Amino acid sequence: LASPRTELFWQRNSKLFVYMSFFLLLIIAAMFIISLRALAIQRKLDQMKSEFINNMTHEIKTPLSTISLACEMLRDETISQDSASRQNFIGIINDENQRMRVLVETILQSAKMSNKNFRINPKDVDVHRIIEKVTQSFALTLSNRNGKLETRLEADPSVIVADELHLTNLVYNLIDNGIKYSTDAPDITVSTAIVNGMFELRVSDHGIGISKEDQKHVFEKFYRVSTGNVHNVKGFGIGLNYVAQVVKLHQGHITLESELGQGSTFIITLPLQ
Ligand code: ADP
Repeated sequence: LASPRTELFWQRNSKLFVYMSFFLLLIIAAMFIISLRALAIQRKLDQMKSEFINNMTHEIKTPLSTISLACEMLRDETISQDSASRQNFIGIINDENQRMRVLVETILQSAKMSNKNFRINPKDVDVHRIIEKVTQSFALTLSNRNGKLETRLEADPSVIVADELHLTNLVYNLIDNGIKYSTDAPDITVSTAIVNGMFELRVSDHGIGISKEDQKHVFEKFYRVSTGNVHNVKGFGIGLNYVAQVVKLHQGHITLESELGQGSTFIITLPLQ
């Protein structure tokens, strides 16, 4: 039997013990929840990593096999002697090569940009010339899908201080998405203007569009709209994050206007200097 002193001790402190046990239970529950969350994040990262590798393999294999097919065709003398066919296959090789270059660069540059010391290399660049160069490389893809791309280049001046390489990749990524996320024949418009002393670039499509909820996330790294049955397009979820980073490095702004099923417009404003 407990001595009267011990009994007195328990009586006096019983409330304290109840509180302490409750507090300990709370700590254990919190630690349990934290561990579960860490596990879930880890699992999600693993899943993202394997999806990324799968998609990357697919995206790199496709242009490679197209190039090798075009080379096979060019080897055939009856085809290579016909000037139009020859130009067509050389065009395919060129476009696929460009696609792979931008793809690899987007991945590499996006990784480099995470580094705090990352610097762009700004100089005078004519944005209209960049747009013309990039749109040319989509000519074949567009004609294969009966698509059209209209340019309305009205900015004057069209020369701004920017990093040519990153700006080229930015324009390429936006047009590429516009084509990728159009289920019917792609209908893309690229326009430029000077608005309030800033250079404005707009890339619009009449594709599948992005819901209001997804619009909040599309600029996050690895974010991809869950495809369901709507579209089955391969990608990494890096392109738009890279585009947003390039815009930020140029002290610009990016906005997205989109309506599900109607299309999307990406509006980029960049300072002239
Ligand atoms: P991805 O490699 O998946 O295309 P992005 O970062 O370029 O990655 O785009 C992120 C997501 O935003 C895409 O998975 C797609 O669902 C959506 N998206 C991007 N551009 C468009 C567009 N023009 N129209 C509709 N959806 C788009």
